[in-house]
Amino acid sequence: MSLQRSIELKRRGLMLILSSPSGAGKTTLSRSLLERYRDAAAHESMMLSVSVTTRPARPGEEHGKDYFFIAEAAYQEMVKKNALLEHAQVFEYYYGTPATFVREHIEKGTDVLFDIDWQGTRQLAERARDDLVSIFILPPSMEELERRLRARAQDSDEVVSKRMSKATNEISHWQEYDYVLVNQDLNETLEKIDTILKAERLKRVRQSGLDDFVKDLCER
Ligand code: 5GP
Repeated sequence: MSLQRSIELKRRGLMLILSSPSGAGKTTLSRSLLERYRDAAAHESMMLSVSVTTRPARPGEEHGKDYFFIAEAAYQEMVKKNALLEHAQVFEYYYGTPATFVREHIEKGTDVLFDIDWQGTRQLAERARDDLVSIFILPPSMEELERRLRARAQDSDEVVSKRMSKATNEISHWQEYDYVLVNQDLNETLEKIDTILKAERLKRVRQSGLDDFVKDLCER
């Protein structure tokens, strides 16, 4: 008779970064990924890191869900108190990642998803390289990017053209990422992200329970 017990090794959560120029599908991809893991078992769960921003809310955006919309003075206070894990100016506004939320979840084995730009990614790579998995999402073409930005219809013409000119700058940082995906088809891209996530979760450095498991294994 074989004695089988279910083995679940403790692991450290990872920081999954999705970056792209606005309009490349990143928001839809992050929502779908979170949806997929919302009801997952504890060792597979994932939370979104909700950033603070000084940008005004767009129609439909919710405080605490999409962003914490804060005044510039409150933002500067957070920077001063070291309460942000990374922070940057993007377009004419400030953005930052509240540190406590991320640290607590990583420690207890929950993955944290970030929708941040290349500046934030670079800062996190300096502070927490081992915990980081970064993915850059490219649009299939600049025409398609513009079409998607216009279809979103939340921004004025002026904002759309500003975002288009910033897109080239954002894209120029693609080589700083661990993975780069061309988002031609949302479902396909989502599956690719999921594949990356599943493999990265299995990395030795993330499996904090291995030490004890191997010790126990060898003592028998
Ligand atoms: P949006 O204003 O369209 O929501 O975001 C503009 C850009 O800011 C996006 O590229 C987004 O990824 C980036 N962003 C959002 N939150 C943060 C953050 O906390 N830190 C950094 N560095 N970038 C952010």
